[in-house]
Amino acid sequence: MPPKEKIEEVIRELQKIMRIQDWDIELKLCTAGQMEKETGDIYNIGEAYRNLRLKSSTIRLNTEDMGDKFQGWYHTLIHEMKHIQTTEFIYLFDNLLDGVDMPEDIKKIIKWQTRDYYEQWMNNCAREFITLCPLSNFILDDIKVGGTI
Ligand SMILES: [Zn+2]
Repeated sequence: MPPKEKIEEVIRELQKIMRIQDWDIELKLCTAGQMEKETGDIYNIGEAYRNLRLKSSTIRLNTEDMGDKFQGWYHTLIHEMKHIQTTEFIYLFDNLLDGVDMPEDIKKIIKWQTRDYYEQWMNNCAREFITLCPLSNFILDDIKVGGTI
């Protein structure tokens, strides 16, 4: 994984491409232990906390994620930024569901299934995005990029 400043440069470029420049995005690189402490899940490889009203987000990337199934940290970063890009959708969905009069257990099932679908959707978006915009598009010449790149 490149140094934090390099990843932040990539984030700024990705914001332009994804047209989410109006979001303040903070990057936190976390060990698995910190991930557990901050997100409750030691296996969490990434997370994007979002505040839609403030248009601010904190992206956490797990520095101990050695997964290279797709493109390692870059895939995780794109996935998290796709969450930011689609924040309004999921807020709208949650608000609509909260406003509907139906049994809570049914709401819970709908919410869980939507969350599953939403995660798959973000993964598919990230894979497609990487095909069009691989990490090699960014100038990272002075660093050794980890994963399968
Ligand atoms: Zn996700």
